[in-house]
Amino acid sequence: MVQETSRDVGPVVLLGPPGAGKGTQSKRLMEHYGIPQVSTGDLLRENVAHGTELGLAAKAVMARGELVSDDLVCNMVRERLLQPDCKRGYILDGFPRTAAQAGWLDALLEHQIFDNSRGTRTWPIVIRLDVDYNQLLLRITGRRCCPTCGRIYNVHSQPAHVYEVCDIDGSKLVTRNDDRLEVIQPRLKAYQEQTRPVADYYQRTGRLISVNGDRPVDEVTEQIYRILEDRV
Ligand code: AMP
Repeated sequence: MVQETSRDVGPVVLLGPPGAGKGTQSKRLMEHYGIPQVSTGDLLRENVAHGTELGLAAKAVMARGELVSDDLVCNMVRERLLQPDCKRGYILDGFPRTAAQAGWLDALLEHQIFDNSRGTRTWPIVIRLDVDYNQLLLRITGRRCCPTCGRIYNVHSQPAHVYEVCDIDGSKLVTRNDDRLEVIQPRLKAYQEQTRPVADYYQRTGRLISVNGDRPVDEVTEQIYRILEDRV
């Protein structure tokens, strides 16, 4: 196990289809490196829950499994990345999801420099979790979340100790509204059509690192730690 570090990590982008394990891995990286997870899905769900203007605009789009407009999402991300807890780095989970968002992020980062322990410039590290299609379906349909602490479980592979109850705070686990079967197909379609070009873009620019997300969760985490330790 790689030891916890307080070094600057810089921006990390986790790519992968819904159910690939981005949320689970982000939370582990967040605890290990002490940098925040910036999940656009979570931020949008918070906005929906609080009935903000953004939430009202995003609600129906999300319920259909489609993507919220680039403008709305990029503005939301800009605000979040300005927070002081993002100074040493952050894990982008679910962003960028379109080629336009990837271009926007590059333009934003062009002016930001993260100094790591070697005092060198750090560009985003882009990691894609590759997962077999049938595995994805199992993961999405079995996913349960804690509405209080956000911890993610899976009824097939990572169940809570007590059925449907969070191990950490005892809250009743919930199924995400868009993890219903009829919404899964549009979400996977949006990934194929709109998010695959993002991976192609990072591949062309030599920045994409693929990780086999079918491996057990701990193994995937270790592999990501190794990638980050090599780069940071
Ligand atoms: P997620 O939790 O990442 O699966 O995201 C849930 C939903 O939020 C997606 O199906 C989209 O409707 C919306 N969403 C999340 N991130 C983005 C993004 N980067 N661009 C557009 N829509 C997004």
